[in-house]
Amino acid sequence: MFQLTLWSIPPLLTSIIAIAAYRRARVRAQVPGGHALRFLFASLLFWVVGQLLGTLLVQPASKLLVAQLTYIGITLTPVAWFLFALTYSQRVLKMSRRLLNSACVLPFLTTCLAVTNEHHFLIWTSWELVNVDGYVGLVTSHGAWFFLNTVYSYSLILVATAILTFTLSQSKQHYQTVLAALFAPLLGVIANLFYLSPLNPTPWFDFTTLGFLVGILLLDQGILRRGLISRTPVLRERVVEHLTDPVLVISNGGIILDANQSAMRAWSHGQDSMLQTNIDQLINTLPISAIRDGMGHAEVTIDQQAYEVATTSLDMTNPKSDIALVFRDVTARLKAERELRNVKDELERMAHTDALTNMFNRRFFMQRLNEEFERVRRHGNSVSVLIFDLDHFKQVNDTYGHDTGDAVLVAVADVVNQVKRITDVACRLGGEEFALLLPETDKPGAIQVAQRLRAGIESYPYKQHCGHAVQATASIGVATVSQHAARPETILKVADRALYRAKNSGRNMVCIDNELS
Ligand code: GH3
Ligand code: MG
Ligand code: MG
Repeated sequence: MFQLTLWSIPPLLTSIIAIAAYRRARVRAQVPGGHALRFLFASLLFWVVGQLLGTLLVQPASKLLVAQLTYIGITLTPVAWFLFALTYSQRVLKMSRRLLNSACVLPFLTTCLAVTNEHHFLIWTSWELVNVDGYVGLVTSHGAWFFLNTVYSYSLILVATAILTFTLSQSKQHYQTVLAALFAPLLGVIANLFYLSPLNPTPWFDFTTLGFLVGILLLDQGILRRGLISRTPVLRERVVEHLTDPVLVISNGGIILDANQSAMRAWSHGQDSMLQTNIDQLINTLPISAIRDGMGHAEVTIDQQAYEVATTSLDMTNPKSDIALVFRDVTARLKAERELRNVKDELERMAHTDALTNMFNRRFFMQRLNEEFERVRRHGNSVSVLIFDLDHFKQVNDTYGHDTGDAVLVAVADVVNQVKRITDVACRLGGEEFALLLPETDKPGAIQVAQRLRAGIESYPYKQHCGHAVQATASIGVATVSQHAARPETILKVADRALYRAKNSGRNMVCIDNELS
């Protein structure tokens, strides 16, 4: 039933190595080509285990059955090699499944034909058992379909090897790697050709699997194991190509030599026109000399988009080398920052502004008053404060309504703005009471401003402004301090006292409290 001979040793060893290689290839499953490599080892394993079983069996029927099933491995091995070459090269990642399916059609047919051979003899036309020094071997003559499948398998291997070696040579790999890719399938093919040739002294034994296995191990060593795959320029090229950031390579003179897809999409407007043009045409705000001087980072605007540009010399040792520019679109970030700044400014403005009149509020007034006092204490000069309050304002509200009252308050703010200098600080202290801080203004100057203010409020065309012929007047208290300034609160108290006097003296007038002078 079984035979144990030395002929079982080569397939046994090959199987063991293939199992180990398959297990080890798991480590590289994540790298391009890694999965296909495992598929390659698996199909080869299927093949060689079939061979091993064949050497162990004696019965012609079981020997033939095993030979038939082994066709699964035989036909899939070239497909796996093809898939490996494609996925490693990353050329057709997206269509690889469809391509794989079509590549599998003929192998599937061949396997079916092998299994059903006795009905058509397309794979084997005849077979016989031979006895070689006690070993029972199977010698077959091959049919037409077998040769068709052989041609197909060789073609797959040839195309795949061409793609792989081309990819590797394009990516400036070390020549050993290219040689490994070339020789790997060649070993299997040579072994297979030898097996099929009439010169083969052992027609009952096929060394093809061993040839392939040695070849693939060579390949694994040469390409994958060295880790070259993760450092391959092909991969880098892919990364750059699929980077969402635009990347340009420019010559020392500023000519655009290369652009990734993102750059093309952003700036080429559908044509290749950007290449071989000067970068000045794209970015005139970024002088090429500045890039060359290795400025590292810069911000530029292209087509209303803002970019941060990182520049890197492609050859640090050569001052005239090409330069890579990586553009990061920061438009959204800048816009968000601008909006945030605006919101912050607005919040700040609101924090020291009176909503109705748009004048400063009491808090801001006190802050500015303190600052002015500090200045007076240091440098002398004087500062004046006017505090004014609308006369009988309750009546205005009672007569014309609160809205009109509000409109009058806005009108008063208008008057204040017309009267005051740019350095003066006007504020609404609350209700219908206002204050005006007059830096570097002595008493006569302050009185003048106060009189203008009083007259302005009295003669304001309220009818135009708020629809009613409101009679609005204000009483104003003035206080001035120079060098010997007491405290900010004191000047307010003094001005308030003057205002009180103005009210008591008949309103619509300016009063000065002399205590401070
Ligand atoms: P006086 O000449 O003594 O200042 O008389 P007055 O009526 O102006 O003084 P009083 O303090 O009795 O009343 C102030 C009025 O100011 C009361 C309130 O109706 C009005 N007022 C305060 N704040 C506002 C406001 O924001 N809008 C409006 N429309 N009226 C306000
Ligand atoms: Mg009042
Ligand atoms: Mg009041």
